[in-house]
This record gives sequence, structure tokens and C-alpha cells, in this order.
Amino acid sequence: MKIGISVLSTGHLKITEAIKKARELDFELVEIFGDFLFFDNSPFRETSKEIGRVAKEEGVELTIHLPALDLNTGSLKGGVYKLTREENITALNFAAEAGVKLAVFHPASAPVCFQPILKAVEERMEKLLGDLLVIANSLDIIIAVENLGVEETWMVNKPDKMLKLINTFDSELKVALDFGHAHIAKLTQEFIDTLKTHIKHLHLHDNFGFTDEHLPVGTGSLPYDNFKSFLKGFQGTAIMEIFSFKDPINDIKISLENLKRILAD
Ligand SMILES: [Zn+2]
Repeated sequence: MKIGISVLSTGHLKITEAIKKARELDFELVEIFGDFLFFDNSPFRETSKEIGRVAKEEGVELTIHLPALDLNTGSLKGGVYKLTREENITALNFAAEAGVKLAVFHPASAPVCFQPILKAVEERMEKLLGDLLVIANSLDIIIAVENLGVEETWMVNKPDKMLKLINTFDSELKVALDFGHAHIAKLTQEFIDTLKTHIKHLHLHDNFGFTDEHLPVGTGSLPYDNFKSFLKGFQGTAIMEIFSFKDPINDIKISLENLKRILAD
């Protein structure tokens, strides 16, 4: 498994600075946060060429988290859906120019738990995903869908729903298994067992089973030791998604040390 960090884990660093820091800390890849491309007056905005050049120089691979903030990939509101679609397509093209090979897609959520609305949101999300897969395929990028919330309003809150979505696209769509989110759902083992062959990407962090704290690996209640054999045999990419307000770089180091210890035993 190749281990990397999300740019969100590096505090205030720009993407190119995060890439250099990742190399310094012995990581092999960096996940770009796609929303950075669309913030007004963002200090984080850099060109795809510059990001790609620095990544190549440093020998760091790139993945991207497709835009998700203030968006909804299955929104029933035309304006939100249109913006979500546009930002996802722009981000895919930007990613391809930077040399990214894998993009993480956020599933949709419905505004209320009402069957006809759930169905409509699901259809909108599948339409968008289908369009994005065609574009991603032409750009040589794999799309992996991430497990998010546990509530019924989230489209892939359970392993069987994730598998159904993967099968809808003849397995062309892959899985980004977020261990922290799966832990809150108390379904980490079930996600692994149900989706094993489809999992290409991981988000690794920790929490105490209730809220999405994004703590360093090994500092919450997620029993990483139980998943040692899966992690050791995993051939894909894994991103540490640690959100730290006090000392981000130190928290990344703790997270990596703990993961290495778990894998070494
Ligand atoms: Zn995640």
C-alpha cells in the first residue's frame, strides 16, 4: 500500500508546499482537496502545471478529493446540481493536467428521509456519476466513491448499498473506504468483507465511534489491529486524513508512526 496525506492535514500549506512536506516526512502521495480550486480569493490556488511539476520533482504521486463543500452530487435543486457537476468536471480536468490517477467522489445525501426523494436523489447521483466516469476514463483517472454518513439519507451508508452502486457501473467505479466513517457506522469489517475486491483507496484516521473527529491513527477507539491483515495485503493507495488545529505536522507524524507499528507487528 502506498501511504500519503491529505493537503487538509498539513495546516496552512499550499498544495505544492504540502507535496514537499509529504516527501520530507516519507509519504509517497498527496491528496489534493478539490474545493480549493473554487474558493473565491483562495490563497491555496495554484496551477495544475505547477502542482504536477513539483509532484514529479519530489517523486510524490497525487490523488484528488473531488469538490464536495456546499455541493450535493444528487441535489434535486437544478442550480446546486449544475454547480456540483461543473466543479466536478473542472476538477477532473485540472487533476488530469497535474498527473492525478485517482479521484474520490462524495456520494449524495437527501434533504429528508422520504422514499420518493431518496429515489430521486439516487437517480440524479447515478446520472452524474455515469457522466463523470466517461470523462474520467478519457483522462485515465479512476473514480472511487467514499462511504460517508451513517443516516439513511446518505446514498451509500451501508456496504450493500455501496456494492449495488458499484455493480450499477459494472465495477468500473471503485471504492474509497474511509475507516473513520465506517467505524462510526460500526461497519468497518462489513465494508471490507463486502467490497474487498473493489476497494482501491483508503482514508485513514481515528475517532471514538460517535463523531467524525479525524484524529491521528491509533489515538481513538478504531481497532486498527483487527484490520492488520487487510491493510498489510492492500495494494492500493491510502491517505491519512488528519484534521488538527494545534500541531498538524506532529499529528501526521504520530499517525504514520502508529500505522507503521500496527503494520509491523
Ligand atoms: Zn474521508
